[in-house]
Amino acid sequence: MHGPLLGWSIRFTTEFAPDILAACRQRHEHLHHWPVTRRNVLGSDVRQLLAERVDRQQPLPGRNGQVNAFFLAKVLGCSREVLAGLAGEVEQAAAIVGLTDWTTYEFAITGRMGTRPWISGIAVGDSDPDSLAELSRLLQAACYVIIAFLSGMRDSEVKHLRRGCLQVIRDADGRPYRWKLASLAFKGERDPAGLRDFGERARFRGSVITDRRQLERLMQRDDPAIYPGTYATCVFNPDKALCQQQHDAHGKPRPSLGHCKPLDCRNTALTAGNRTALAREATDITLQLASRPVLPPLLQARLSDRRDQITAFLCSYPETS
Ligand code: SF4
Repeated sequence: MHGPLLGWSIRFTTEFAPDILAACRQRHEHLHHWPVTRRNVLGSDVRQLLAERVDRQQPLPGRNGQVNAFFLAKVLGCSREVLAGLAGEVEQAAAIVGLTDWTTYEFAITGRMGTRPWISGIAVGDSDPDSLAELSRLLQAACYVIIAFLSGMRDSEVKHLRRGCLQVIRDADGRPYRWKLASLAFKGERDPAGLRDFGERARFRGSVITDRRQLERLMQRDDPAIYPGTYATCVFNPDKALCQQQHDAHGKPRPSLGHCKPLDCRNTALTAGNRTALAREATDITLQLASRPVLPPLLQARLSDRRDQITAFLCSYPETS
């Protein structure tokens, strides 16, 4: 029963952790370098950096449908005043390359789930989907699981581990052959609390609209409350939304597309493109399940479950024109 939990924890720490740590480094850099660079980066430098972003077709960081100027200033290394003086150029750049739905740290995600990145980006805001705060907690939980299972340490001993507590002993050729952990020893205590279940995946069970004319009527009626997505198109009605809602700068509710439950939610509409994306996902899952080395059993079961739900969903709602 604990095998899948350990397997997932190992996968999280070996394959996904580098991205979480890259986001941590970027946060640290913004905290410590920006106060220095913002004194020296001039308007002409910022103009050049904006032009380079446009050349790379890299969207500007967004928040509630607006440019997140504070974060953009940090990324460009300039002061907010310098950026405010270039508001026109920033707007022009945003019109060309667009905005991200929410602000994420800017680096290429390296971890993969099958052939795709395991996450679209790591959010800066604590309340945004897939935030650095949330993922850091999951990473800590995964580390806890691994140490608790493989070291035989008690709960309190694991919790008293501190930065620098690991000593790596190497042979004459520099090869590590022993790892020593230093912590406080507690006797007569055993507390399994603290293990966190993670890796929960979106399930697909909702109803959809597949009739194109019905969708067009909805888009005319409800625009701009239509949020096209890869796997579903959200015709947003806050009273029916299953995702955790956000609010824009005017206090209007918006869906949280990163936490979308497409086949559970009654706000879901399905376009031909969404159908193709869902079918492709089912095929990818089949490939992952057939890949070697074999996936941990819990992950296999969840992926297989998800593929069956997608397939059943697509069969239940044949495409109409
Ligand atoms: S769960 Fe998905 S479809 Fe439902 S409101 Fe949220 S984003 Fe829209």
